Amino acid sequence: MSDREQSVIQRLREASEMSLFRYRQPLVIADSGGKDSSVCVELARRAGIPFEVLHNHTTADAPETVYFIRREFARLEAMGIPCKIEYPHYKGMRTSMWALIPQKLMPPTRAVRYCCAILKERGGQGRFIATGVRWAESTRRRDSRGIYEKGAKDPAKRIILNNDNDDKRRLFEHCTLQAKRVCNPIIDGTDSDVWDFLLSEKIPLNPLYAEGFPRVGCVGCPMAGKRRYRDFARWPAYEQMYIRSFDKMLEMRRQRGKIDGSWRSGTTGEDIFHWWMEDDVLPGQLSFDEYAEMMEE
Ligand code: SF4
Repeated sequence: MSDREQSVIQRLREASEMSLFRYRQPLVIADSGGKDSSVCVELARRAGIPFEVLHNHTTADAPETVYFIRREFARLEAMGIPCKIEYPHYKGMRTSMWALIPQKLMPPTRAVRYCCAILKERGGQGRFIATGVRWAESTRRRDSRGIYEKGAKDPAKRIILNNDNDDKRRLFEHCTLQAKRVCNPIIDGTDSDVWDFLLSEKIPLNPLYAEGFPRVGCVGCPMAGKRRYRDFARWPAYEQMYIRSFDKMLEMRRQRGKIDGSWRSGTTGEDIFHWWMEDDVLPGQLSFDEYAEMMEE
């Protein structure tokens, strides 16, 4: 076993101890169906710790990811590892990406990712969670994510520990505030660390990687920018579902008198789709980022 793998296993064992000490419950590994989650789950298994696996069903994941998670959970449960799929709720009701867009009166954007909080980051309340977040996947994460975190809505109150300093760990363990605590055991792993481990150990992988998708996640995620064209070419039904949701969103805006200068009364769901894809087909209207900034304000 490489030093890298040993260090991840050590972090997982420490997180497991914290979880058992603080919550009297096993660590929860969040599994998105992506390669980084697969590494975490396998290394947690090799660490010999008690753990559970949680997947948030976003409703916008590719069908291949949904089936992969079902297969993986059956495999893990056969090994005695408890697995749970969390289905999204909003205001006490089951929801989906397609229901949220009309409710929120706007598409999800890079600046206003309301869908992540509702569809992707639910579950595990009051538990210690381990994720497959890595700095290499996003420069933003280098500044905002650490090995150990204590979640809080106010980023200034979030505790981020990037080392195994004993004093800080004690502070972490004895914090009495109720919040989700997070460990990111592979945060400093490189792409080649991840791929070398997965391929050499023959770990089951989401089949979308074999099709050349560099990442798996929600089809049409606004964070993917122009890469979404490939998503919609591969899964054209999702394009239609977004267009239908944008039509319903426009209808809701009309009912509430919220058709303003940026979206004229003749605008259709298809127009919104092209604007959202940053195709510049709505001349004189707010750009994707301008609109997102306005909504954020
Ligand atoms: S579409 Fe993107 S921003 Fe929205 S839930 Fe999925 S990953 Fe998060």
